[in-house]
Amino acid sequence: MVITGVDIDSIVNAKDVPTPPTVLVHILEVNSNPDASINDLVEAVAMDPALTAKIISAANSPMYRRAREVTGLDRAVAQVGVRSVVTLALAFSITRTMPTTGEVGGVSLGTFWVRSVTSAVAAKAIAARVLPELEEEAFFAGLVSDLGRVLLARSTPEQYEALVATNNGWPSDEAELTSLGVNTRGVTEELMRTWDLPEIFADAFAVVESVELGSSDAGAISRIVSLGDKIAEMFHAGEDSGYVLREVLSLASSVGLTGEEADLLLDELQEPMFELASQLQLEVSEADQADIVAGARTQLIELTLVADVELREERGRRTELEAEKRELEEAALRDVLTGLPNRRAFDEVLEQQMRLRIRSAESLAKPMGIVMIDVDHFKAVNDTHGHGIGDDVLREMGSTLNAASRTEETIARYGGEEFVMMAPLATSEEIVKAAERLRKLVELIEVETESGILTITASFGAATMSAPTAIEDSEKLMAAADAALYEAKHSGRNCVKLSTDTLP
Ligand code: GH3
Ligand code: MG
Ligand code: MG
Repeated sequence: MVITGVDIDSIVNAKDVPTPPTVLVHILEVNSNPDASINDLVEAVAMDPALTAKIISAANSPMYRRAREVTGLDRAVAQVGVRSVVTLALAFSITRTMPTTGEVGGVSLGTFWVRSVTSAVAAKAIAARVLPELEEEAFFAGLVSDLGRVLLARSTPEQYEALVATNNGWPSDEAELTSLGVNTRGVTEELMRTWDLPEIFADAFAVVESVELGSSDAGAISRIVSLGDKIAEMFHAGEDSGYVLREVLSLASSVGLTGEEADLLLDELQEPMFELASQLQLEVSEADQADIVAGARTQLIELTLVADVELREERGRRTELEAEKRELEEAALRDVLTGLPNRRAFDEVLEQQMRLRIRSAESLAKPMGIVMIDVDHFKAVNDTHGHGIGDDVLREMGSTLNAASRTEETIARYGGEEFVMMAPLATSEEIVKAAERLRKLVELIEVETESGILTITASFGAATMSAPTAIEDSEKLMAAADAALYEAKHSGRNCVKLSTDTLP
């Protein structure tokens, strides 16, 4: 049933509709102007004494506080940071447009603000990933996205209350349209126009009806805000959030986030969201008297800021942790002395090759080959010249073997003075040839010592395998190469021996 008599113009032009503080318009202007300086922002904020006080007090709050008390606005803005000042200013001026407690047409203003603020924080976090140049615009659009609801509820309190009762406390745009002929979105759009805010905001709420706006910045903001609203809904739904999650994921793909990115985003939002929701709910339900309203407002804005900072820190921490983890992983796979892959890394590469062979239906054209390499009489090097020279020898070995190997081959330090090479495709003849080549290069290594140039030799044991049937077959291959190396040592060292074992 469509109730006649509800018309948007009269809703947004009613006498008691709040007007936007001038400071809001100025801050939005400064924010969207790429040439604007910190000074422009300071000037815009300075027009509003209450906001100025707010920002100075934020700069002195434990979150930002440095050693000395900040008393001037310019220092305060520098301390809090331009982005946070814009966020703070937007949140502050919007919350001043309407009361924070009580009920309008069945809509609890407490719930309304909680959802507005959480939507805004979510929209900002989404934009940070997909549209960073419009991060504050997304925040603002998220923050105002439900203003239309309060105006609508106020203009038709009885009908809206009935709608709230039959729609889980929070009627959707479709439900509103069906029974009232207008909806929150449309009223918000009109309010943005009436307030004379930059067009992108009104357009963002008009976008559902307008195909040509779909690919514009306004279209992007519109989708970001829809996703932000859904995320806010999810956090408020608590345990029944399963169904909302599915909608969240589908909206996430509409703004260009992969499933994995959406997961990360939700993770990142978790803490600031619950913080916001729990603290605001508490504060708002207790606050009924007029004098507490002011306090609730301050709380609301401070929490927005806390959420913003937490989000930023969480994101920073995450990237730091990821980088650290990568570094650790990388470090764990490299030998410090030679810079070559270590035994663990080599075992992984070998296992990969095994899998590849086990999986491939036809056996690969050539077997895979392994060469174990062990420096001859290395203990004597240490004993005669000291550990430092011993280390030099190992480093030289490493770089010589590495330089001589082909890209498809893997050279690793297997332990102590033992190295290993894997050639994924090499016949017995080829692997022996490759080992011979390496042996001759090792003979050419020269290491300077106090008693003159030191040369070394190494022994080589090779083995090949064609069609392993289990990962564990790699142990057989390594054992065969090791046995061949033992034979090389016993045949007078500085030579190459090929395993005669029959391997799969
Ligand atoms: P063979 O010809 O039979 O292989 O005799 P070898 O002396 O080379 O073999 P052995 O296994 O008896 O000695 C290896 C030595 O390598 C013992 C160990 O102290 C030394 N070593 C192991 N790792 C390092 C290292 O990182 N730096 C140095 N300088 N020496 C090492
Ligand atoms: Mg050894
Ligand atoms: Mg040795």
